[in-house]
Amino acid sequence: MQNATKARSERASRLQIPRYLGLERAEATRDGAVQLTLGHTDRLRKELTLDSEGLDFLLGFLKPTTLSSAARRVRERPAKAQRLGRDLKSAGILRPAKPVPERFRRYDRHLLFYDLAGADPVAVQANLARRRVALVGMGGIGNWVSMALIGAGFGELRLIDFDDIELSNLTRQVLFTEKDVGRPKIDVAAERLAERNRGTLVRPVPLKVSSARELSAALKGVHFVVLSADQPATIHEWVDLACVKRRIPYVNLGYRDATGVIGPMTVAGRTSCYHCFKPRSEKRRAKGGARDMAELHEALNRRYQAPSFGPVNALVSSIGALEIIKYLGGFAECASMGTELTVDPFTLEIDRRAYRRDRSCWNCGHIEA
Ligand SMILES: [Zn+2]
Repeated sequence: MQNATKARSERASRLQIPRYLGLERAEATRDGAVQLTLGHTDRLRKELTLDSEGLDFLLGFLKPTTLSSAARRVRERPAKAQRLGRDLKSAGILRPAKPVPERFRRYDRHLLFYDLAGADPVAVQANLARRRVALVGMGGIGNWVSMALIGAGFGELRLIDFDDIELSNLTRQVLFTEKDVGRPKIDVAAERLAERNRGTLVRPVPLKVSSARELSAALKGVHFVVLSADQPATIHEWVDLACVKRRIPYVNLGYRDATGVIGPMTVAGRTSCYHCFKPRSEKRRAKGGARDMAELHEALNRRYQAPSFGPVNALVSSIGALEIIKYLGGFAECASMGTELTVDPFTLEIDRRAYRRDRSCWNCGHIEA
């Protein structure tokens, strides 16, 4: 029994050189030491000089091992080895080598990413596996985002839409094929997504949202909402009302004309809500015999169609999915937190606009973080 406990604690304290830490440069110095540069980018780069014994000690961690057994192998003095081991660990050159549960093995490359971010990768993955995400809108952005999220191993994806697939969707709605034209988007998407990951529950919800209350009912139990629908015109308002009321964080993903829009990510009590900065509804009728503005809106906007471009959908969705995984995985700050990022598809420049929280906002002002 005692041996089993000892073996477990030994396994838990094993360290290794992470697989994402590649060798950039190695140079021998005059005194027989070796100068190493590990990592290929500024974010990761580590420089160190080791004597021959130190190098052998380090190479002992190509496979998961404990500090003491690596020291024994090179006959290094225990105190010196412990010190070197601690230095290598605090420099991020040695990382904990915790066992990965069988069901998480498929996420191997993602686990490396979480490890690189400094998190406990298995804990992040377990976190994601418990989270339920709803997508409001399964158009171009909903398609790409759901593909990224199904791959990342969430507990549930809830797909909310009412539309049928049209041929003109196929420029960007990558889950669909020509033979799917005419079928409901959520049904086909649910089939395709389930084929990619049986570990995630995919729930299609056929709903043409017509009020915040109705939407709120459909969002029961979810931990995050992706707003990627642009119809009806009040959809952002409704998602905001439903999410703030239920304290569900959400992110807006879309486009304004040809420009990609990511954010803001709204977390009630922490960021502004949509109602903190929503423009007041314009006066529908100008004074004194001017034209009817409502009619003018209707006449011009009835035929409006955003030039939704496949690669721009993918761009917005990929950044959005990254933000969602960072937020729900809890391993990094989100650049879109309370902030709208806009990507110009022609110059690829990204602009940021932070929205300030209005403490007197009737919708979110009373909520404490
Ligand atoms: Zn507000």
